[in-house]
Amino acid sequence: MALVAPLTFAQAREEVIRRVSALAPPPATETVLLDEAPGRVLAQDVFADRDYPPEPRSMRDGFALRAADTPGEFRILGEVRAGEPCRFVVEARQAVEIMTGATVPEGADAVVMVEHVHAADGRLRVPHPVEPGANISPRGASLRQGAAAVEAGARLTPASVAILASVGAAAIPVHVRPRVAILATGDELVEVEAAPAPWQIRNSNSRALAAQVRRAGGEPVILPPVRDSLEETVESLQQAFQHDLVLLSGGVSAGKYDLVEHALARFDAEIWFDRVLIQPGQPCVFGRAGGRFFFGLPGNPASTFVCFEIFARAALDLLSGVRRPRLPLAMAVLAEPFRHKPGLTRFLPARLDDDARVRPIPWGGSGDIRALALADCFLVAESERPVWDAGEFIRVLIPS
Ligand code: AMP
Ligand code: MG
Repeated sequence: MALVAPLTFAQAREEVIRRVSALAPPPATETVLLDEAPGRVLAQDVFADRDYPPEPRSMRDGFALRAADTPGEFRILGEVRAGEPCRFVVEARQAVEIMTGATVPEGADAVVMVEHVHAADGRLRVPHPVEPGANISPRGASLRQGAAAVEAGARLTPASVAILASVGAAAIPVHVRPRVAILATGDELVEVEAAPAPWQIRNSNSRALAAQVRRAGGEPVILPPVRDSLEETVESLQQAFQHDLVLLSGGVSAGKYDLVEHALARFDAEIWFDRVLIQPGQPCVFGRAGGRFFFGLPGNPASTFVCFEIFARAALDLLSGVRRPRLPLAMAVLAEPFRHKPGLTRFLPARLDDDARVRPIPWGGSGDIRALALADCFLVAESERPVWDAGEFIRVLIPS
């Protein structure tokens, strides 16, 4: 039941970002301790409480001196260690022994590494010229007092934790995680714990989606799966639309019992796309009903997985307060020739080696969960290009 002309991959992704950016309500805020901050989205700028470094700092163990005096002989005034104030002023042909992280004495404009000098009996010989500024991190070089140390809208990483810790931010204002309803549809589905009849399958999509939502910083809420019945789907959607985002699995193709779009129509849903020129995942649906965004993800496990990563995750990011969602794309070198039929952008399970060489995993189509589980990336074959030689660059999507 295609309602809208099919979009290209780029158009569909842009549509998700544009619509959610324009219509998403501002996410609520809560405070967490620094240790709980990784993966959360910062709700307010956090500012530097002082310059970083607060004083010019030596980046090496060595001797602080005036670069203009090098090469030459110096008198050693004493030493300065990390963690103590500096008592010295360096004048012509004087040097202070200095440790990594210690404050560079006034008057000195360079540090020469201990490995590059000869020191004995209070005398120092520097055989080679040293550049002014060598091995010194000037005051405020990495961050100025009052500047944003981390900006609102950033998803916090271990490195952001390091900088938040440095500026003394112990309690962190973050956005509340969006609650994401997961609703699988399909007459063939049974629960993971059940013993399926030969014509039945276990509902793996709800669990996979929950794991993807959690990894993406959302809070998954798995609803009981529904049969391919309009009434059941409508009833369950009522509950689903209580959440910030709704992910449906299955029931969006052109089959007689693909009823998801019919069920959504009961909620006066706006549907912005329901077909994208991609594989897997062509019949992917995106829209909004009752103020909530939804994705109708095709039921084949690879389709569900890929459509979440390339579309739904951007919406989840925006609902989490991320300013500009980013697709984790990189370039890799093809380990073998690759060709595909142009017309669709393809996302194919693949593996990267330690040399950034990528190899597609042989796979039996969108239902091949095993190939999906073996993959650590997806090879992204652009829709208009048919052939790549071994050794050529190709884009890869690396979800993490
Ligand atoms: P559909 O998109 O509803 O046409 O589903 C396509 C195929 O995906 C089905 O025939 C199933 O093999 C598979 N499938 C659908 N839903 C699920 C699910 N929740 N978990 C695992 N596989 C599913
Ligand atoms: Mg189905």
